[in-house]
Amino acid sequence: MSSLGFQVVYRLLNDPSRPEISAERAFLPDDVDGWKQARQPLLTYESQTRVEESPVILFSVAYELELTGLFSCLELATIPVLRSERTTSHPLIICGGPLTFSNPLPLAPFVDVVVMGEAEDVLPELVETLLSAGVGEAPQSSSERSALLARLSQLSGVWVPSVHGEHLPKVAACENAKLPATSAILTPHTELRSMFLIEPERGCSRGCTYCVMRRSTNGGMRLVSPERVKSLLPDGIERVGLVGAAVTDHPKLPAILHHIVEERGLQVGISSLRADRLTSEIVGLLAKGGYRTLTVASDGASERMRDKIERRTKAHHILRSAELARQHGLKTLKVYMMCGLPDETDEDIDELISFAKEISKVVRLAYGVAPFVAKRNTPLDGAPFAGIATVEQRLARLKLGLRGCAEVRPTSARWAWVEYLLAQGGSDAGLRAYAAHLAGGSFAAWRRAFEGFSTYHVPPDDRPKALPAALRLPVLSAGG
Ligand code: SF4
Repeated sequence: MSSLGFQVVYRLLNDPSRPEISAERAFLPDDVDGWKQARQPLLTYESQTRVEESPVILFSVAYELELTGLFSCLELATIPVLRSERTTSHPLIICGGPLTFSNPLPLAPFVDVVVMGEAEDVLPELVETLLSAGVGEAPQSSSERSALLARLSQLSGVWVPSVHGEHLPKVAACENAKLPATSAILTPHTELRSMFLIEPERGCSRGCTYCVMRRSTNGGMRLVSPERVKSLLPDGIERVGLVGAAVTDHPKLPAILHHIVEERGLQVGISSLRADRLTSEIVGLLAKGGYRTLTVASDGASERMRDKIERRTKAHHILRSAELARQHGLKTLKVYMMCGLPDETDEDIDELISFAKEISKVVRLAYGVAPFVAKRNTPLDGAPFAGIATVEQRLARLKLGLRGCAEVRPTSARWAWVEYLLAQGGSDAGLRAYAAHLAGGSFAAWRRAFEGFSTYHVPPDDRPKALPAALRLPVLSAGG
């Protein structure tokens, strides 16, 4: 429920002027194994209907490691995970979400249709096509289902793996008039609890070479005027979340913040702060709007690495952010960075350690560190993964160097390696992911499943012809 894209789709499908269409929500439970053991079916929130009774199921997939969540949802719904094991009596499985901006190819063995990119314009067309084919009225014959998939494959921004194979259509961009996205539902039972989400801009005009949301994606940054943002904030809310890849690059951000915090007296959150855009006015408004921690990203460990990846943030911007945080009474500066970028060395990590020691004299400091994973649709696509041992050694060096002066919260090097395989893999990576899932989903299971694997960038003729024995997949019965 903290995903604005998920809520946009929910609102589009529950259009009051189209009572013949409705969408209900279902979520992967926290305790999947417990649900499986108890044979607890996956039910929709709204009417407690079994998910498998819906004619169409749409999944939002944020990033590579959520693929196993898709498997678990289908298993709980007693729907065969593999598309090849399903019949026309099963729901049509459609995917969308942030993953489609980079590499949705591993979804191919499991889904019928993928909406690539922004759904606002594509989804209504897709729904009309489903309605005109009678989906939801009566079971389809296999020739009717094939004809439907062929029609869907003609829509721009729609990928139908059974028709297109591994050839992905262009990512869809919606008309500017459809912006901004806003919350459809406010609930206290979510990560961003009771927060009204609104998108004052979409996309980014910058060119960081590792980033899927860089300026080359969907026309760069698209702005929404402060007047429009103000007009869409409903009465009776307490918190506003400004969502977007580059909210602090909005030239009118101070005016938007001023309205939310000073005029409306609301709390505020921003999904991404750029250190080089922070001013005393902005940080002061954020502090007044409830901020206790200022979070920015430097991404490269050293000035040299940041130049290489075309990250505009410089050391003096981070230092200035620390000073602004202290000046406005914020408790902590949190800095996100990556390690394991191409050409990175221990000297880059050492530069970060020296710099962090200086910053920590100004304000309490915490680092969130993610291993670099090359994504498709970026200039660094195809760059190698640094290696689990290298990433772990750099993280250990960083932790040791920063002991007593900054907290370091890294994400797992092992799971970053898995993410890398899926980010760079094709449909065969999806099958291997399923084999790993069936084998228990431990890291050892993933490593076994990906033995001998070549990533997408190895020409198809050079890839191993036969899948390893671990990939002779059992058929998952509809009984789960
Ligand atoms: S990393 Fe951030 S600043 Fe750089 S291109 Fe991506 S969204 Fe823009």
